[in-house]
Amino acid sequence: MKVLICGGAGYVGSHMVRYLVASKHEVVVYDDLSTGHREAVPPDVPFVHGDIGDAARLSRLFAVHSFDSVIHFCARSLVGESVAEPYLYYRNNVANTLVLLGAMRDAGVDRLVFSSTAAVFGNPQADAIDETHPTEPINPYGQSKLMIERVLADAFLAYGLRSVALRYFNAAGADPSASIGEAHEPETHLIPNVLKAVLGQGAALKVFGDDYDTRDGTCVRDYIHVNDLASAHLLALEYLDGNEGAFTFNLGNGEGFSVREVIAAAERVTGRPVPHAIAPRRAGDPATLVASSLQARQRLGWKPRMASLDEILASAWQWHLEPNWR
Ligand code: UDP
Repeated sequence: MKVLICGGAGYVGSHMVRYLVASKHEVVVYDDLSTGHREAVPPDVPFVHGDIGDAARLSRLFAVHSFDSVIHFCARSLVGESVAEPYLYYRNNVANTLVLLGAMRDAGVDRLVFSSTAAVFGNPQADAIDETHPTEPINPYGQSKLMIERVLADAFLAYGLRSVALRYFNAAGADPSASIGEAHEPETHLIPNVLKAVLGQGAALKVFGDDYDTRDGTCVRDYIHVNDLASAHLLALEYLDGNEGAFTFNLGNGEGFSVREVIAAAERVTGRPVPHAIAPRRAGDPATLVASSLQARQRLGWKPRMASLDEILASAWQWHLEPNWR
């Protein structure tokens, strides 16, 4: 299978590239490097520097290669930033994705796996969120992803585009080789910030709010290993071989951990204290997000392999001790 990976230089995308290469698929990476890293893509994988909003460049790319499918990771993905800069989110995540979808249609490429997010749900109305849960995003990031899910449903009806939208809960960890990992600038995600605080890089960790309606007052999230996300994408592509439609699946481990519990786990795994202080709530954060991934397990045959928080943290720790792309 020949797959175009848009956003293959980013955190989840770069793990996907390695997973597909290891599974003997042919891969081309397209990335504007706005948040990704060129070094995260292996030197022997074809890399095209470009923006998914650039129709002419995409048209040339689809003319040169005959892709069977596209996996689309290109997006802005920070809740707080999306609240402050909604135009950026609707332009990048919605308008530019429409350009990519148009280029796929022109080239006759009719299979897509799309990175979606638990942020499409907004404030949860159930302990475990399944695919039937109402979608009422509370920030522009979640809205922008939900808009594309709706576009994909219409695109199937109108053009026959087969798609799977995978709603990630909290992507975390690094490949066990520690040769790639999470490196955002600035870093806003909890686990890298916890580990940076352990290493004394920057100030103490800020815990955003301890007055939520959760067991210890801090936000609860479902952390899922980045390679387990990668395996779900390949299963989703295979699923589209036998199934026509626009599908959505939730991806998480089904267990939530509070910010305080993540800090305690990091202290266990690293054997070092996590300097931290309580700070005000961050705009756009729901109290709890925990997945039910029963559908992905049953219909895709997906099974997370690195499901324990300690294992996930240990893999991230190996990367953060020596964050050099190899
Ligand atoms: N968080 C925190 N301090 C940080 C980063 C994150 O307390 O430096 C909290 C954040 O408020 C949220 C949880 O950790 O409740 C996970 O945040 P993250 O940004 O990693 O992922 P999100 O859930 O926003 O996708």
